[in-house]
Amino acid sequence: MPIDLRSDTVTKPTPGMRAAMAAADVGDDERDGDPTTRRLEERVAKMLGKEDSLFFPSGVMANQAAVWLLAPRATEVLADVDAHIVHSEIAGVAALAGAQILAVVPSGGRVMSADDVRGAFRPRSRYYPAPGLVCVENTHNGAGGVIVPLDEFCEICAVAREHEVPVHLDGARLWNASIASGVSLPQLSAPADTVMVDLSKGLGAPIGAMLAGTRDAMERAWTARKLFGGAMRQSGILAAAALYALDHQLERLADDHENARDMADMLRGLPGVEIVEPDTNIVMVDLVAGQSVPQIAAAAREHGVLVSEWSSTRIRLVTHIDVSADDCRRAAEVLRGALTHRH
Ligand SMILES: *Cc1c(COP(=O)(O)O)cnc(C)c1O
Repeated sequence: MPIDLRSDTVTKPTPGMRAAMAAADVGDDERDGDPTTRRLEERVAKMLGKEDSLFFPSGVMANQAAVWLLAPRATEVLADVDAHIVHSEIAGVAALAGAQILAVVPSGGRVMSADDVRGAFRPRSRYYPAPGLVCVENTHNGAGGVIVPLDEFCEICAVAREHEVPVHLDGARLWNASIASGVSLPQLSAPADTVMVDLSKGLGAPIGAMLAGTRDAMERAWTARKLFGGAMRQSGILAAAALYALDHQLERLADDHENARDMADMLRGLPGVEIVEPDTNIVMVDLVAGQSVPQIAAAAREHGVLVSEWSSTRIRLVTHIDVSADDCRRAAEVLRGALTHRH
């Protein structure tokens, strides 16, 4: 079995999770409401400090539903230039919501700041598109699992409100941000109108994500989900996996963070290599001396270690429930070898 560090989406349901899925009480969610799905929706809403939440088949669908319900047509969605919603959701914002992305380039830090957002808003004019939504990603995947500090997030939301624009929080890995920073999920969620949290990343559920917000917003999110083909039936089978994950696989995210730090420590200081200090479970390895990412990835693969070729200069390593501390140390040794011998 290779040590698979390509993503925390590769995690497979644990035996306990499979047992919980098999035993789930289910019903027709669209017709009557599925009892286990409802339990998950109520639980996640409470965990995030929102009125209600809605189960989605994927984080992408939940993000796109949020944009669809918050951003009026023919407006702009302000998002970090390296956000998931910019790179990894096709052109959903344009195709589904009829809006366009205004990509915000971080001026100094690793992710867009409140000042960056303030500067990105265009003056109101009949010549320019109007702003429709601000989207913030926490943790920020492409920047290396970076935690957006709470005060910065509050400031971004304040800027958005000055412009009378709502805020969607892409919190696919908000669980990681909360556990690593010690800031509670309701605190991290409060300033946003809607929040997406993923179930199939570090939590280890097979599929799914939750969108949370006001009861009224979730009513409209239900319409968006149906429109996108995501109305569900016996979804309790999947909700049971998520409930199991919240009971048994949430607190352990701290182990993933420790394993990421250990790998970063082992890889730091190699010639031609820069490590982005991991805040959470993602280690970005930047090859700054022209080494080939595909060659390094192939060398690692030969030794049973799978990594993600993030860009032409960046390798991404993601820790998760299916890689142990020993696996991570072994992977770091393999990568050290590959990075030292191949240029
Ligand atoms: C993975 C991810 C998503 C999408 O989630 P899926 O459940 O894979 O559709 C959205 N945003 C971020 C930041 C992600 O990392």
